Amino acid sequence: MRRPVIAGNWKLNNTTKQAAELVTLLKRDLGDVTEVDIVVCPVFTALSVMADILMESNIAIGAQNLYWEDSGAFTGEVSAPLLKEIGVQYVIIGHSERRQYFGETNQTVNKKIRAALTHGLIPIVCVGEVLEERESNKTFDVIQSQCKDSLAGLGAEEMKKIIIAYEPVWAIGTGRTATPAQAQEVHHFIRELLFKGWGEEVAQTLRIQYGGSVKPENIAELMAQPDIDGALVGGASLKAEAFVQVVKNSCALIK
Ligand code: PEP
Repeated sequence: MRRPVIAGNWKLNNTTKQAAELVTLLKRDLGDVTEVDIVVCPVFTALSVMADILMESNIAIGAQNLYWEDSGAFTGEVSAPLLKEIGVQYVIIGHSERRQYFGETNQTVNKKIRAALTHGLIPIVCVGEVLEERESNKTFDVIQSQCKDSLAGLGAEEMKKIIIAYEPVWAIGTGRTATPAQAQEVHHFIRELLFKGWGEEVAQTLRIQYGGSVKPENIAELMAQPDIDGALVGGASLKAEAFVQVVKNSCALIK
């Protein structure tokens, strides 16, 4: 059985003060949840304070990006060892907003995954098609090439540590969620790719999250799908009450 993982991607939101208030509420209201892994991903500047507040709690910290070199003349970048040093455990890699606005490619995603794994961070690797690709029946081709190129050269042991987030871009921040059947179809396809590329154990171990307008009202039916192992949550992770309900409702039908 794969342990579900619910992660909140706060994007470019919340000052450190606001972030501290939010995680303090999450710590209070989610302290008794044992069925799922819980992760929050604030902006870089809040990470250290978040790590202090959440130390020894059941809520882990993730970053929203990293650079693949450890150090050097790379102005403005943040590396895996620096994240690790302050208690970060997860890192989102290749989010569609980074692909769209910051030139992230499958090749840079691959380098970032390797850097994260080298330093013991768990990568949450995002893949997903845009609306035009879905409407022209290219979803599976897009997912296949994103997975193939982003995960190129990784060994089975490394793959077991990764989380893939399937995020149809047309469902991110739009209020338009994929139906559970649409999401399951792609998750199953990804699991088949994993099986073909790395074998049964990786296919059965690697966790695949769904992301795209997840909210308290739709998480349970998504989680009921056999290949959906959690969620990457944007908007609904910014309000304590909504994120708490997403986490609690995700436990309702633990497989
Ligand atoms: C995201 O940013 O990864 C995301 C899924 O956002 P939202 O939940 O707001 O659609």
